[in-house]
Amino acid sequence: MLQNHVALVTGGSRGIGKGIVEHFAEKGAKVAFTYNNSSEKANAIVAHCKSKFGSEIKAYKSNAAKFDDTEELIKNVLTDFGQLDCLINNAGITQDTLLMRMSEDQWDEVIRINLKSVFNLTKASLRTFLKAKKGSIINMSSVVGINGNAGQANYSASKAGIIGFSKSIAKELGSRNIRCNVIAPGFIETEMTEKLGEEMVESWRNQIPLKRGGLPQDIAQLSAFLASDESSYITGQVISICGGMNM
Ligand code: NAP
Repeated sequence: MLQNHVALVTGGSRGIGKGIVEHFAEKGAKVAFTYNNSSEKANAIVAHCKSKFGSEIKAYKSNAAKFDDTEELIKNVLTDFGQLDCLINNAGITQDTLLMRMSEDQWDEVIRINLKSVFNLTKASLRTFLKAKKGSIINMSSVVGINGNAGQANYSASKAGIIGFSKSIAKELGSRNIRCNVIAPGFIETEMTEKLGEEMVESWRNQIPLKRGGLPQDIAQLSAFLASDESSYITGQVISICGGMNM
């Protein structure tokens, strides 16, 4: 499905991003991925994919929130891989608290890392996609970007912003054969959700019609489909993967 395909995944060192990186490597893609701090974890993923799948894969330390970093990143990826077919904007953080207690820094940091990063990476990749006359951009939103969530005004706003951005980009770039879709995960069990504690996690699981949290693999499989030519007539869509939470 993804043979000879070059994908760039932001935040590939842990959780959902790691799941996407490993799945793409298994499917024969050449994978570039970023991390912000977790260099040991990133190196372990590279070693694993090289030995298990014989992958062409490289990890880059790059802060997705910094415009200059992302321009440099795209240059390096093109030098190393020669092309770019798919961009997956996955890097994200939470800084959850009620609005009453939310500081300006907590607002700014979440918007910068979750939303501005999507602008940065998309803008930096655009020339490459235009030249190739094709490209697939996949942006990681969340069901709370659709529904909102108490205690997550900053995070929900960043994830709703991603949806508006992606639909606009899909309209702007459709005539150039550049597609842009959004995945809205529900409750996917990763380090991000571990912070919530077992009691909270169990109550989330009970509210889900399929009665379980999702796995990074669930997101990775849809990402592979959206990256591939099998989805060549799909753009501007928001697809929830949430075990039926969002109906
Ligand atoms: P996670 O386990 O906390 O992993 C976050 C990843 O993002 C890590 O690889 C981290 O790199 C990277 N990252 C953080 N800040 C970065 C920055 N400034 N520049 C580059 N990379 C950065 O999170 P996750 O649960 O896998 O979530 C992945 C995405 O899915 C996020 O956008 C999240 O909002 C979204 N999502 C998750 C869920 C869920 O239930 N888990 C639900 C809906 C949406 P380091 O390891 O170097 O820190």
